[in-house]
Amino acid sequence: MSKLRLFNSLSRVVQDFEPFDPTGRKVGMYCCGPTVYDFGHIGNFRTFAFSDLTRRYLEFRGYEVTHVMNVTDVEDKIIRRVRETGKTLQEYTGNYKSAFLEDLRTLNCSSPHHLPHATDYIPAIIDLIQKLESRGIAYRAPDGSVYFSIQNYRGCGCRYGQLVNLNFDEMRVGERISSDEYAKESLADFALWKARIPEDGAVFWDSPWGQGRPGWHIECSAMSMSILGPSFDLHLGGEDLAFPHHEDEIAQSEGAGLQPPGRPFVKYWLHGAHLLVEGKKMAKSLGNFYTVRDLLDQGFQGREIRYLLLSAHYRETFNFTLEGLEAARQALSRIDECLEKLRELATQSSSEENAAPSLAASPSFVDAFTAAMDNDLNVAAGWAVVFDWVRETNRAIASLELSPMAAKARLHSWDQINSVLGLSAKLSDQAPPEVLALVEARTVAKRSRDFTRADAIRAELNHLGWLIEDTAKGPKVKRR
Ligand SMILES: [Zn+2]
Repeated sequence: MSKLRLFNSLSRVVQDFEPFDPTGRKVGMYCCGPTVYDFGHIGNFRTFAFSDLTRRYLEFRGYEVTHVMNVTDVEDKIIRRVRETGKTLQEYTGNYKSAFLEDLRTLNCSSPHHLPHATDYIPAIIDLIQKLESRGIAYRAPDGSVYFSIQNYRGCGCRYGQLVNLNFDEMRVGERISSDEYAKESLADFALWKARIPEDGAVFWDSPWGQGRPGWHIECSAMSMSILGPSFDLHLGGEDLAFPHHEDEIAQSEGAGLQPPGRPFVKYWLHGAHLLVEGKKMAKSLGNFYTVRDLLDQGFQGREIRYLLLSAHYRETFNFTLEGLEAARQALSRIDECLEKLRELATQSSSEENAAPSLAASPSFVDAFTAAMDNDLNVAAGWAVVFDWVRETNRAIASLELSPMAAKARLHSWDQINSVLGLSAKLSDQAPPEVLALVEARTVAKRSRDFTRADAIRAELNHLGWLIEDTAKGPKVKRR
């Protein structure tokens, strides 16, 4: 069997995946989670779907994964919103956190084993900053905030700039940046602990440096190492997080010197590429900004969104379009129809297994899929294997080559593959009562020749994801 190989952003090459665990089974995996200041958009969910795929594939490959995803519930953007809305931090972030978990379920993403919240890890964060301070890498600035000294870190023989190339000539010693997000060009000492300022309102904690709050980057270092230990296997995130967030995570974690000799903070870094929507960078002003909820409101299903988000290789920039979602629906219905036929065949009594040659199960299907995914999680090639299998299965069914036993074996292979792809069952074709009520209201409107109302109801049904068709036996609804 081939080996799983992954593109490691640290080495910038595709490498064999070998976890630290001496038995080679256990894998620690951390994925930077949402900042709960708003509903997540589909660009965010591309990263979360990608981390779900990674976890599912590792499990399919027999690894025992501990999947950690943090929830950033205190940082600059959140504090701004808390101030603007007059809510408490918990009230404000609680709603968006629940919404996030609901969206994960909609996309059938497995729930991470640990969902640490930054505000629950303040003591661990303070502890980590103190370690950096004791090693001379963290220092207090005149405003009472604590900063990470890039110069002192490099002076210890550590390397700043492992994920991105940096030009230190442009860096001015002693220059500091307090904001959580900044560009490479503003390379400077970054904030670990931010002294309380009036704008923070009630959002502050006591610390050895006085009242304040943690910087964003230190939160992830503290949470990941608290749960997975100071040195773990996999760290995932969107490519926009590589600098400064991930670079700073490495600096803080390795700067504290907690790793066993010769071991890095993280062995493999995986970064998911950007998502474009309708060919452009997503922006509310361009009208191409979608949350998962927006797409459900347009009648799409979570499985269709998941399929589209996972249709391309994670390191490729992907163009997400509504047309693509329509195509996703078509593609999924091809899979659904094939599975329905297989299930029907599989339930036929085995006495009907006449002279038709019973094709062996399809180990080649699982093997081909595995070979595709072993190559840096190349899911696009994985889907090609799936659709080849669908085509071949349809042909075998049509030419009566498949026995019920063979159909069962194929369904079993599909279940193995789908443990990775995570396609949930399609929503029932049975119309719910509120849809039936609308159908009835339309019939009444048509009878009284109120065609404007009848058309409005048809549009409403369409919006809900149902198509209405007038047949000789009366109106019928079906899913779009
Ligand atoms: Zn993070």
